[in-house]
Amino acid sequence: MAGTALPKRKLGKTGLEVSILGFGASPLGNVFGDLKEADGVEAVHEAIRLGINFIDVSPFYGATLAETNLGKALKDIPRDKFVLSTKVGRYGQDVFDFSAERVTKSVDESLARLNVEYIDIIQCHDIEYGSLDQIIEETLPALQKLKEAGKVRFIGITGLPLKIYKYVLDRVAPGTVDVVLSYCHYSLNDRSLGDLLPYLEEKGVGVINASPLSMGLLTEQGPPDWHPASDEIKGACKKAVEVAKSHGKNVTTLALQFATANPFIATTLVGMASPAIVRANVEAVVNGALDERLLNEVESVLSPLQNASWPSGKPEN
Ligand code: NAD
Repeated sequence: MAGTALPKRKLGKTGLEVSILGFGASPLGNVFGDLKEADGVEAVHEAIRLGINFIDVSPFYGATLAETNLGKALKDIPRDKFVLSTKVGRYGQDVFDFSAERVTKSVDESLARLNVEYIDIIQCHDIEYGSLDQIIEETLPALQKLKEAGKVRFIGITGLPLKIYKYVLDRVAPGTVDVVLSYCHYSLNDRSLGDLLPYLEEKGVGVINASPLSMGLLTEQGPPDWHPASDEIKGACKKAVEVAKSHGKNVTTLALQFATANPFIATTLVGMASPAIVRANVEAVVNGALDERLLNEVESVLSPLQNASWPSGKPEN
């Protein structure tokens, strides 16, 4: 692949430098359809070869399958070549356990599946489904102990509703939460994370943006069956795909260039299931310039539903 290297950005105050495009490993758990194990392993190797150094997974993806497949891929890769993030607390569609006992055991299970001696970033997964007060009072202190024991290096929280971040960060001591992982809120059809970035910057928390393709909405093949968006959101995104196509362009490329252009977002995680997709996405970010004309046209198609989302978690969160 011709051109310059994939840039890196500092991740909050962690001292980590992460590639602006990160490898989302949920497809390795067959979350977006069946995948050949070899394709997933090769996709990880291709990503690292092309300068992607940030990889995110969770025991939830494919009921541990994604972690197991990722572990196979990482077995012979030098540990300093990647920054690895996995999660605790979510173990099934409706299975959550953020207790100190469960998350402590969970980290040991993840270490074994991933074939590593430490996890760089451990994140509480989709905390809006649990009690935010339990996260503050029990889960984060348990993870802090694992930090002290050297099993994890940094701690994060993830989830869909943006207000969960303020709730937690306003109630914990500085340095308790090193990073947040927000998803589906910084893409062509939903930019609401943008308003929270100054607050996160002030708190010294690193920002990971996930799902720049809105979990498949901004792809030519469209979203998976389980996608939670309304038919209106799905329809608007489909229109955006068609507008790009009518100019001989791919909306996926535009979406990746848009998301990675914001300097206050350290890294953008995209789900990638094959070496060819990894190559296309790195190429889009490294060598492509944002097509402002196409962006304007796509924006006008999406503007009636800009920032429209869907419910997630307990109503009180
Ligand atoms: P995404 O927006 O990255 O979309 C992924 C889908 O787009 C997959 O079907 C993938 O095959 C497809 N795709 C990627 N590049 C493509 C290309 N060039 N052409 C056509 N299709 C392409 O959504 P995602 O995978 O849900 O998010 C990325 C990662 O972020 C996840 O794998 C996960 O690691 C993380 N994430 C975390 C949370 C959380 O912690 N709560 C939530 C969502 C995502």
